[in-house]
This record gives sequence, structure tokens and C-alpha cells, in this order.
Amino acid sequence: MDANEAWFRSRAWSVSGNRLGGPPDGKRPVVTSLAREIHQPRSVDEVVRIVRALPPSTPIACVSGGHGSSGSALVAAPDAVVLDLVHLKEITFHEDADGPLVTVGAGVVFRELVEALREQRGALPVGTGPGVGVVGYVVNGGLSGYFSRRLGLLGQRVERMTVVTAAGEVRVLGTADPELAAMVGAGSALGIVVDVTIRVAPASAIREAQQRVFGFDSRERAVRFTRGAVRLMRDAILPDPSVSQEIVVTGGGAIVVTTTFFDSFIGDPARFLAPLEELAASLELPLLAAARWGSWYEAAGALWPIIEGQSGDPLAFLCHAVGTRMAPDDAAIDYVCDVMVGEAPLDEAPLSIIEIRTLGGAAGTGRPIPTGNHHHDFFVDIVTMYDAGPKDGAARQAILDRTNGIVDRARTIPGLDVDFSGTHSQPDDPGEPPAAELIFGTPEAAAGIRALKKQLDPADRFRFHPYVRILD
Ligand SMILES: Cc1cc2nc3c(=O)[nH]c(=O)nc-3n(C[C@H](O)[C@H](O)[C@H](O)COP(=O)(O)OP(=O)(O)OC[C@H]3O[C@@H](n4cnc5c(N)ncnc54)[C@H](O)[C@@H]3O)c2cc1C
Repeated sequence: MDANEAWFRSRAWSVSGNRLGGPPDGKRPVVTSLAREIHQPRSVDEVVRIVRALPPSTPIACVSGGHGSSGSALVAAPDAVVLDLVHLKEITFHEDADGPLVTVGAGVVFRELVEALREQRGALPVGTGPGVGVVGYVVNGGLSGYFSRRLGLLGQRVERMTVVTAAGEVRVLGTADPELAAMVGAGSALGIVVDVTIRVAPASAIREAQQRVFGFDSRERAVRFTRGAVRLMRDAILPDPSVSQEIVVTGGGAIVVTTTFFDSFIGDPARFLAPLEELAASLELPLLAAARWGSWYEAAGALWPIIEGQSGDPLAFLCHAVGTRMAPDDAAIDYVCDVMVGEAPLDEAPLSIIEIRTLGGAAGTGRPIPTGNHHHDFFVDIVTMYDAGPKDGAARQAILDRTNGIVDRARTIPGLDVDFSGTHSQPDDPGEPPAAELIFGTPEAAAGIRALKKQLDPADRFRFHPYVRILD
């Protein structure tokens, strides 16, 4: 194994399913990093030295947590230099007149941030993956299905950011700099983020979360349960900003419903949980598990053991999002249930999940940032995952085709937006790329990011990111 391959294996969580398709009898392609150099700088000065020592046209790929869906920064290109920021692990808590802040280095992953916040009795709208890079999530507009309705998108809480530009200059951006807002929705295309300073919320913002796990033995029953549960979500949860909910249909035959109650919630959580249990009972779906978490910390780490159990040789990964800007109508709900849940390749790709989430709330009313996630109240992602090791080319291609067929049909449903999220889209898909105004939220935001890209990175050094085909 050469050095690039060893590094790629140690840093890539998954490989894009688009790179694993192929002819039925074809060999499985070896996916690795193509970069000509891989650096692991230990300070901002070292980042600057590396950038300034390179010819100004050399492409640069930044890696934080290595969880990007296309793996474009990890794979890079033969003329590119990778900056693997894994050693920038500092987490510092401090305060200003408005309250507590945390400064996080570009190598910090969510598990480390969550553990540190626990000691400070703080809370943030963190992503579910323990190994996801905090900066890789922030610069692509990341969302929290559990917490964003109360705490906003993590990018909306960013107060300061240290960035090394394409020219090798260090800039410290604050909220008065218009570039800061761009960096928290499209930053992976604009610069090298060395650290980010985020406003911390009190842990008391989250009162409790409750999870119910129901089993299903036929897809038809999963569809029927999901349709009832999503209607309950639309009618009872979406109008109430003191609650959020995520319904996850898994390839393992379980439907996991997590309901989070915020500090503004008054009353008995049973109001939302009993109708779900009654729905499951009416369809004879067994209740496999019930849990209650009394703190932000417990809810933040609840999925870590499951996610850590997902592996493959390599693990194939495809991610797509659909959603609506207001409550979904019946046609959107029918598409989500009949097509996404009903036809997803859950049997062939058993690690797959469909995550159906409320968004909006503070994510919609908070500081505007250029991401579709700021504009959507209802969000569904279809994550296709499988161990590519034992599968032949025909099986891998069939999973890819089935997933693409489902996403293509979403584009025909009026009112349903497709692939509007930098953290939940698949930028290496063939065919039409997502619309820039969807992924950055509005036509004005898209025009602003395009102009800034030309100004800050005229040679397009930063070209390994989710917006690659819309910022060419
Ligand atoms: C198991 C799992 C769980 C997830 N959960 C969530 C979730 O709950 N919510 C959500 O929104 N998303 C979620 N995601 C998606 C994830 O947030 C995005 O893929 C994110 O971009 C990954 O960041 P990373 O640093 O781990 O990946 P990387 O592959 O290292 O980086 C991803 C992109 O960000 C760029 N980038 C990374 N670091 C920097 C930097 N320092 N400066 C400039 N650009 C940089 C890279 O160049 C690349 O383009 C999840 C993904 C997985 C696999």
C-alpha cells in the first residue's frame, strides 16, 4: 500500500457510491487519494508557509473530519496538495459581554466538541456523526435534526473565523465582515478555515428527548406507519417550535422516532408520543425500545454507537436531500412515503437510512446564511449505504441506479426542493447539478457567493467541495 492509500484508508469514512458503479463483471475500482502531496500542518503559521511555498495555481484540498459524501477533498487530483488539518485539535472556552464562546480548531470532530461542552454545561446544534469535522459541517451549512429548531444552524452561531486565503494571507473574520456569512454556507469553496469561534447556548435549552423504536417486517407496513407519522409531524410538531422530531427508517427493519422537547415546551411529552404508539399498535408494529434522555449531552451522543457500527471495505455512501419551505402537502408526503421509504434499496444496501426531519424554527428565523437549510421547514434525506466488499459491479450499479431513480422522481413533484444542502447532497452525481439558488437559498445569495468566489479565489484553488459544479 503506498502512502496515499494508507492515508486515505485512515481518513476516509466512506467512498462515494458514484465511484463504485461499473460493468457487471468489472473489478471494484480502488479509490484512493490522487494528490501529489499530503500535509498535516500543526499551526496556522505552518498552513501559511505551505500555501505560500506553492505556485499560486496549485489546487488545494482541505480535510477536516473526512466525512464528505463525495470524498472530493480526500481524493483530490494529481496536481493538488491536500491539507489534512487533523492536528488542529484545540478547543478553548472563553466569554464576551454576550456570554460564553468556544473556539474550535479545524481538526476537531463532533465527539470531541460534545465531550468538551458537557463539562461546561453548554449545548450546540451539533451533527449526529461523532467523527464529522466541526469545520467541514459549518462551512457547508450543516444542520442538526434534533437541535436546530431551537439553537439554529451551527453556522448561525459563528462569531469569528480564522481563514487562510488563496494568496496565503491570514484573515480573522468577525460578524461585521460580509465574508463571514458566506464562509458558513460556502466556505469550503472560499478559503482554508483554521479555527472557528461559536456562541455557546446553555445545556438547559434542551429539556429532554424521547426515542421510540418500532420494528417492521414488510415495506408496505413501514410505508403506512411513516405516512401516519409524517402527517402527525406536519399537523402537531411543525406548528410548535418548542418541539422537533426525526423519523428514521432503517435498512435493519426499524423505524426510530426521536422527539426533542426544548426549554419553551410546556405540558406532557405524552401528547406527542401516545399518538405514535397508537399508530404503531394499529399496524401491529412492535415497540422494540423506548428511551428518555434528560440532557442535551445524552441526546447529542445517542446515535454514536450505531454510526460507529457502520463500516465496509469500503463503505459505499450516497446522500441526497428533499424538502419543503413550508409544511409538506399530501403530494410531498406521499412521495416521501411511497417512493423514498417504499422503494429505497434498503434490502440491497441494508445500512441505508431515510431521515425525515422538522427544520425551520430558529434555523429559519436566525441570522441569514447562504444555505438551503436556512429556508426549509421539512427536510428528508436518503442515505444509501452498503459494504462494497462482497458486492459485484452489477449489484453496486443497481443500487446506484435505484437511488438515482428515486431522486430524479423527486424533481417532478411540485413544491419539493431537491439537493438544497451542502452537507446532504452528492456533488459528484452525473447529470444536471443542483440549482445554485436552491443550495445557497436564494438567487441573491447564489449571485453573492459566485462574485465572492471570483474575488477571493480567482484561480479556483479551492475546487474540492460540494459546490464544485455550480461555481465553475
Ligand atoms: C455519519 C455521518 C453523519 C452526519 N451527520 C450530519 C448531520 O447531522 N448534519 C449535517 O448537516 N451533516 C451531517 N453529515 C454530513 C457532514 O456534515 C458533511 O459531509 C460535512 O461536510 C463533513 O465534514 P468533514 O470535515 O467530516 O468532511 P471532509 O471530507 O473533511 O470535508 C468536507 C468538505 O468540507 C471542506 N472542508 C473541510 N475542512 C475545511 C477547512 N478547514 N476549510 C475549508 N474547507 C474545509 C472539504 O474541503 C470538503 O469539501 C453527516 C455525515 C456522516 C457521514
